[in-house]
Amino acid sequence: MKKLLTLVIVISSSIALSQNNTSYWQQHVDYTMDVDVDVENYQYKGTQLLVYTNNSPDVLKEVFYHLYYNAFQPGSEMDERLKAVIDPDARMTTNIGTEDNPIWESRIAKLKPNEVGYLNVLSLIQNGKEVKYFTEGTVMKVALNKPIKPGGKAIFEMTFEGQLPVHIRRAGRNNRDGVALSMAQWYPKMAEYDFEGWHAHPYIAREFYGVWGNFDVTIHIDRDYTIGSTGYLQNPQEIGHGYADHTKKLNIKKGKKLSWHFVAPNVHDFTWAADPKYVHDIRKTASGTDLHFFYKNTYKYKKAWKEVQQYTEKALNYFNEEIGPYPYKQYSVIQGGDGGMEYAMCTLIAGGEKLNSLRGTVFHELAHSWFQQVLANNENKHSWMDEGFASYFSGLVSNEIFNDGINKPLAGNYDIYYYAVKNGLNEPLTTQADRFDTNTAFVIGSYTKGRMFLNQLNYIIGEKNVQKTLKKYYSDFKFKHPTPNDLKRTAEKVSGIQLDWYLNEWIETTHTIDYAIAKVKDNSITLARLGQMPMPLDVTVTYTDGTTEDFNIPLRMMWRSKPTTAVVLKNWPWTNPSYTFNTTKTVRSVTIDPLEYMADIDKNNNYFIKK
Ligand SMILES: [Zn+2]
Repeated sequence: MKKLLTLVIVISSSIALSQNNTSYWQQHVDYTMDVDVDVENYQYKGTQLLVYTNNSPDVLKEVFYHLYYNAFQPGSEMDERLKAVIDPDARMTTNIGTEDNPIWESRIAKLKPNEVGYLNVLSLIQNGKEVKYFTEGTVMKVALNKPIKPGGKAIFEMTFEGQLPVHIRRAGRNNRDGVALSMAQWYPKMAEYDFEGWHAHPYIAREFYGVWGNFDVTIHIDRDYTIGSTGYLQNPQEIGHGYADHTKKLNIKKGKKLSWHFVAPNVHDFTWAADPKYVHDIRKTASGTDLHFFYKNTYKYKKAWKEVQQYTEKALNYFNEEIGPYPYKQYSVIQGGDGGMEYAMCTLIAGGEKLNSLRGTVFHELAHSWFQQVLANNENKHSWMDEGFASYFSGLVSNEIFNDGINKPLAGNYDIYYYAVKNGLNEPLTTQADRFDTNTAFVIGSYTKGRMFLNQLNYIIGEKNVQKTLKKYYSDFKFKHPTPNDLKRTAEKVSGIQLDWYLNEWIETTHTIDYAIAKVKDNSITLARLGQMPMPLDVTVTYTDGTTEDFNIPLRMMWRSKPTTAVVLKNWPWTNPSYTFNTTKTVRSVTIDPLEYMADIDKNNNYFIKK
């Protein structure tokens, strides 16, 4: 009986395995961490219990951890890249030349031993036995004692110590706004293993990709410090600091430190910041999500940080409506960064003394709660999917709330992209984030060209279909790791239009768009494709009698045109450099793409008027 049962299990698990090979899976982590902070020396010691579940169809013989703070040491890969790149991040360098002739010096190269960052693993046990590990820069490789089988679990028990570096980028001590501890990327973090294999990329500049799971984190820190973080505080009555329920009894223990206990379910990172002079405001919203704000208690910041709170709620409502409900009960806007960076259930952002400088960053980072924190695309490989989409939505919400005067919010302003094309700064968006030749190319590619992917999708499949696509994309792929193809397939399923060509041309190549009006004679119009990238065309024609008519020319490979009130003409195969159609009346003028959705690099030839 037992033998038969074993056989049945073997057969059924091999069926499950073969199914695994063709279907989606993702790894799972359960972290329990306890960390004791020495605020005088910016050092901390911790323990980490990690239950790792291998949901992959593969037997794992090794695992990798990120040790991000090792990047903030002279000679690190981050330091070397900073010195080598021609346009280094100004936040990470000091200009030792003049304003006209700048010479950028790496701030990392100048860090003294008590100012560097480090993350050292002191001991590691797998399933009760010590295990071998070694570190190269910011990545640690563990040769497992016992391989982890498909569906199996391993328990890792670790002790570690860290030093928070002087604030260079994203995390650090005493940032420019004077925030004491910005604790992003602070713990040994299991790298992600997915259908493409290990993503144990070193910390060079950007960005992150984590394993979905649950965090239970206890932080012991001097009692005057207020913490803002990922996760829900479990013991508010023992803490106070703006968290306690004042209708209930406080139970704050005596002693030098308080122990903060946080739980964060279903996230892929855990971030926190702490300062003895934080103001902590909570805004309860109708959607059920509490918005927390942590900022320095100074005249300089207070006004803008109070004002931004109602707009953060409005933006939350807008994103809930346009993308899908934010799935956590809490979101925190924490002063603690250098610019802004998205984390699970929170953001670390720089001061912002005026509402107008603060709100844009808050909207962008809040939009990231959907695009990367819940739709957890690999930021290192496909940064355009989160940076571009967060930029797209922060632009829309800004226009919605403040009526920024953008009369074409969906078409946007493409000037930065045209600048990149003209100056040879256009690289394919399949380039990994750290490997763009220049920081400028990364920024324009990920933020601008990424946003333009959606701008132009509105033009290709129609605005309503884009709205539906983004909602379906969120509901189908939340708490997963969507890929560019997942997004493309969603748009195809919603619109019935085939889009392989669009993902390929716009994301995987540096092809550009240039259409022109080649010839107009009486009632005959000839259009030409001068650029390599094909696009469907919206064309508006004005006749000599003063009337106008709209036309739409789909690409043959789309297999359908977008919903439109325009006259849909015969499709245009991409192979054909030109296309002629006839109108019923004599033509006076012709305009290609009158709403300017399309990133046509030469607009001069998009308009014709009979002289
Ligand atoms: Zn961003």
